[in-house]
Amino acid sequence: MIHSLTELCDLISLSPADLNADTAPDFPLKVPKHFAHRIEKNSPQDPLLRQVLPGLAEKSIIEGFTVDPVGDLKANPTPSLIHKYQGRALLMTSGRCDIHCRYCFRRHFPYQQAKKQHWQTALKQIAADPSIEEIILSGGDPLSLSENSLIELIAELEKISHLTTLRIHSRTPVVAPNRAEMPLLWRTLNASRLQSVVVVHCNHANELSDETARLFQTLKKANVTLLNQSVLLKGVNDDVTTLTQLSKKLFQQGVLPYYCHQLDKVAGAAHFEVKNDQAWAIFDQLRQQLPGYLVPRLVSEIAGEPYKTLIFPTKESH
Ligand code: SF4
Repeated sequence: MIHSLTELCDLISLSPADLNADTAPDFPLKVPKHFAHRIEKNSPQDPLLRQVLPGLAEKSIIEGFTVDPVGDLKANPTPSLIHKYQGRALLMTSGRCDIHCRYCFRRHFPYQQAKKQHWQTALKQIAADPSIEEIILSGGDPLSLSENSLIELIAELEKISHLTTLRIHSRTPVVAPNRAEMPLLWRTLNASRLQSVVVVHCNHANELSDETARLFQTLKKANVTLLNQSVLLKGVNDDVTTLTQLSKKLFQQGVLPYYCHQLDKVAGAAHFEVKNDQAWAIFDQLRQQLPGYLVPRLVSEIAGEPYKTLIFPTKESH
């Protein structure tokens, strides 16, 4: 794991001065070696580098960009539990991630809430609400927990009779596939009465490797439905060629594109924003390039709304 800017720069044959980097960011640099090795050397604008490099632009205070852009704190009835949408609830299982994505909408979240000691209270709340059919393990990153902790948690969830589906949201399979090699966990999911879905998070085809392909095969053999969500990011994937390559490569590796999120307006990430009309124009072209099943839904999450909002063009964009 790389935590030092100098180490990252050495690996990619650049110097901090080439990069306009913040040497003392509030949200520290963290890059798994697997991901770092996929950054092109001597390429300051590399799309993978851009996702992990703390830049001075993060210090800018921009109106409308806040510390809780999607209203997680208001939808947080019990520490660790977020219940925003009908039928499903989200359990924050861990405050850790294997990577620190600079655009992360939870980069300011009070992750001390995501502790194992809060799980029992959250599990009681889920058990008391028969409207919840699907539980989403999120974080941070649930796969940053030990295999045993996850297996214990799944056993607890299986006891709640009204749950039918277990969904895991994780960036680990893409950015550090070796850390997601958890044979007992995948065997547990295969044998579970709950239907399992793993939603990975990949923003650019260069993030996908032989190692991710092997891991996804393992998950498919465990009867896991594999979906991807990405974030539309300026300078990373805000063009039709990049998004076409991403969808095609995901499909080659057995993953269906699910959502492409508009950036959540989190403080420190304004330089990644792609305006809605531009996003829609990119997706209009994407629909011409790809079969419908490879076009992710372009959505944005608006605090307080009962579901994610599909992005449509405004009248002025015609
Ligand atoms: S892996 Fe997900 S939760 Fe973790 S920093 Fe990246 S976007 Fe945020």
